[in-house]
Amino acid sequence: MDQAENNTEGAETKPPHRRPALSPDEYVAGVLAGDRATLARAITLIESTSRPHEVQGQEVLQRLLPHTGKAERIGITGVPGVGKSTFIESFGSFLVEQGRRVAVLTIDPTSKRSGGSILGDKTRMERLSRNPQAFIRPSAAGQSLGGVARRTRETLLLCEAAGFDTVLVETVGVGQSETVLRSMVDFFLLLLLPGAGDELQGIKKGIIEMADAVLINKADGENRLRAEQARAEQRNAVHCLQPSTPGWTTEVGLCSGLTGEGIPEIWNIIQQYFSRFRPAGIIDKRRQQQSLEWFSSLIEDELLRRFYRDPHVQERLAALRQQVLQAETTPVRASRDLLESLNLFTRKTDPTPQ
Ligand code: GDP
Repeated sequence: MDQAENNTEGAETKPPHRRPALSPDEYVAGVLAGDRATLARAITLIESTSRPHEVQGQEVLQRLLPHTGKAERIGITGVPGVGKSTFIESFGSFLVEQGRRVAVLTIDPTSKRSGGSILGDKTRMERLSRNPQAFIRPSAAGQSLGGVARRTRETLLLCEAAGFDTVLVETVGVGQSETVLRSMVDFFLLLLLPGAGDELQGIKKGIIEMADAVLINKADGENRLRAEQARAEQRNAVHCLQPSTPGWTTEVGLCSGLTGEGIPEIWNIIQQYFSRFRPAGIIDKRRQQQSLEWFSSLIEDELLRRFYRDPHVQERLAALRQQVLQAETTPVRASRDLLESLNLFTRKTDPTPQ
């Protein structure tokens, strides 16, 4: 059967059972109409690593770009078990009740390394995923953090073009994922557990500084008292730090994703944030900065990738590493040797490197 399909004229490269491909026009029209099936397929297109898909995906994104930017982009992070999915389930449902259209995306840096994923494998947010006003898309699988981040950024744009006015981007606090999350959202929410030490919670230096609000989650039942103590401690800690957004005081609150307590309050805080910073142009300015930083990091990543794959570099590098190891040359001279052999620094217009 596969053989027969594969032998069909002009269809050699197509796998069987494939749906008819959409044209860029169809992708653009479907996404703009808010059609969920087309949105899901557009995301699959931009997640693809095949070159023709990438070209088509970029064309679709380019055409949708004027329709992006309208959503409030909210990042949510916390260690595994802090209650992110329970919180997002409650928070997302609350937002839908307020008439919002909510997309939930994830940056899951664990899927590649562990072969399974912390965020993706469980059945998560079941109630929200059945809601027609919500759209939940797990992280692209099998990618590096940079690859996952790129796909999440592009998925976010697609969701905005499809009319979602609130995008929640979730990440588990592993490696650099919170920094990557901060670089693509407007508001950054950190969930903490009551009564666990900072190290236990994986609170790395700088993570609180990235937050616009800190919520002590699971502040229910027997945890309540400990949660109040934790809130007092975190308020003190936050007091000594620079706010993540200049002019904003990082809020520390209590919440229970399980009972829904604290959800209207955090939404109120987020609304205050947007009504203060959006008209002032501060959100747009940060987004411009984020785009420029993303642009630079794409160039840097690609340059590095090409550099280290170059056969000449590989050969010279091996020899120079040996020389550095044997102290036959200095690292500075070796790096200059290698880079100059690529003619990168010999153009007349370049200033002589000092
Ligand atoms: P995630 O790994 O951060 O997504 O955490 P989950 O949402 O999967 O929750 C981890 C565990 O904590 C589950 O057993 C939840 O039932 C429980 N949990 C989540 N939120 C709350 C909460 O607000 N209060 C209490 N008491 N338990 C919670």
